[in-house]
Formats: sequence, C-alpha cells, structure tokens
Amino acid sequence: MYCSGCGNQLLPEAEFCPKCGTSKNKVKEVSKKSNGMGYAIASLFAWILPLAGYPVSIIGIVKASKALQEGDPKAKTALALSIVGLVLTTINSAIGAYMGATGQL
Ligand SMILES: [Zn+2]
Repeated sequence: MYCSGCGNQLLPEAEFCPKCGTSKNKVKEVSKKSNGMGYAIASLFAWILPLAGYPVSIIGIVKASKALQEGDPKAKTALALSIVGLVLTTINSAIGAYMGATGQL
C-alpha cells in the first residue's frame, strides 16, 4: 500500500501518511467517485458508431457536471471532453442523415 499523495510506503493499518499527511480513507473515497472522465474519453470514440455517442457523452456531461459542483478538479476536463464527444456525434449523425437523404449511403 502506497500513499497516493507522495508515494511513501504505508502500513496497512495506517489512516494517514506519516510523510505528507494524506488521509488514506479520504483518498479512497475521492478515487471511488466517478467524475465522468471514463464516459468523457469513451464518448470521443463512441461517436464513430451510429448514435452510440449520444448516451455515452450525455452520461459523461451529467456525471462531470455533478463532480464539478463537488469541486473535482478533473471534472472540467471530463466535461469538456464529453461536450466534444457530443458535438462529434451530432456532426457524424448529421453527415449520415445527409448522405442517407441524398442517396450516397
Ligand atoms: Zn504521503
């Protein structure tokens, strides 16, 4: 078991890192919570598949917005990536609809 703050080796029963004071429980709690980053990154790939980008990027935006309100510093990035994913999905489906309508598919 290593400290997530400074990398110092911790005793299994230690509640705090003796070197930097990071609480083990607090760190665990924060890392367990989703800030939507996984969905945000997934939305950057999911948009290629027809309509798959919509649910993934919307979940990413919702989760990142919640995490942002709770003060998660990574949530801003997750929110931005999810929005990019949603925009790419919209462009992709618009092109698909246009090509379908004009008989190019
Ligand atoms: Zn530490």
